[in-house]
Amino acid sequence: MPIKSPRRYPELADPQAQPRYTGISTFFRTVFSQSLHDTDIGLIGVPFDGGVTNRSGARHGPRAVRDQSSLLRRIHGTTGFIPFAQARIHDLGDAWIERPYELEGALDEIQEFLSTVVDAGVIPISVGGDHSISLPILRAVAADGPVGLIHIDAHCDTGDDYLGSRFHHGAPFRRAVDENLVDPKRVIQIGIRGTTNDPDMWGFSERSGMRVLGMDEFQDKGWAYAVEEARRVAGDGAVYLTYDIDSLDPVHAPGTGTPEAGGITSIEALRLLRGLRGLDFIGADLVEVAPSFDVGTITAFNAASLLFEILCLVTEAWQARKPPTG
Ligand code: MN
Ligand code: MN
Repeated sequence: MPIKSPRRYPELADPQAQPRYTGISTFFRTVFSQSLHDTDIGLIGVPFDGGVTNRSGARHGPRAVRDQSSLLRRIHGTTGFIPFAQARIHDLGDAWIERPYELEGALDEIQEFLSTVVDAGVIPISVGGDHSISLPILRAVAADGPVGLIHIDAHCDTGDDYLGSRFHHGAPFRRAVDENLVDPKRVIQIGIRGTTNDPDMWGFSERSGMRVLGMDEFQDKGWAYAVEEARRVAGDGAVYLTYDIDSLDPVHAPGTGTPEAGGITSIEALRLLRGLRGLDFIGADLVEVAPSFDVGTITAFNAASLLFEILCLVTEAWQARKPPTG
């Protein structure tokens, strides 16, 4: 028996219906559970930022996003979709790292956590952490062959060796191509911009066959065009969604390690994601929220709001794959 059971409002027995400022922070006020057999979709924190090339702090992202996600409600405001009514969605806690000072060992630990989740048939939605975490996650979700990728970011993250390491947050998607985890012809990168020190910074993406939709093109043609392009490139097969919060304009997301001026607004990002309904998402992540650079929690709040759109997309895809019962 809980110490406090609601007397006047029995519906408050559902923790998600209790006042949103109460309770221990979990993603969207879902129940914390590590039992994979009764979970369909798992929300996972990955508090690791050992792969950053500049300002650190994204290891604190999961806590900040959990906290801000308590402001969100259960029903999607536009579509009426209620992910929590369709699937068993739990906060699976953190894929925390025992060896945070050993980058490649840490990535292996993340992969092991994610493989345990995926092998149990649970669909993972992970919150970073820096973008280096997407490589071990892809190793887990694309173990059976390459997948499509919708990648929203200010940066292509297809760089190579940097200061002696092939693994950092500027290289996960080059490594993912090397390791045959993604099919570059089914990869789109949206929101790309900013200065570089390498005149060929985005060259690998283009030469490997990825569609690079830069921010100038995004502004000229709009979010709906980006949706069309993403749907065309990703196609009907299994697709993974990776969302770097620095794709947003720094006005909408100051709390991140490598900001770039001239980005996507929060309403454009919400509509871009919503436009991807119906694609066969097999997992997703949201990365690079660094709360120590945040202003009034705006970055973590926008991240939580985008994460709700992502949760709706992934839940609908899970539903569409579910064999009919009865
Ligand atoms: Mn990135
Ligand atoms: Mn980025």
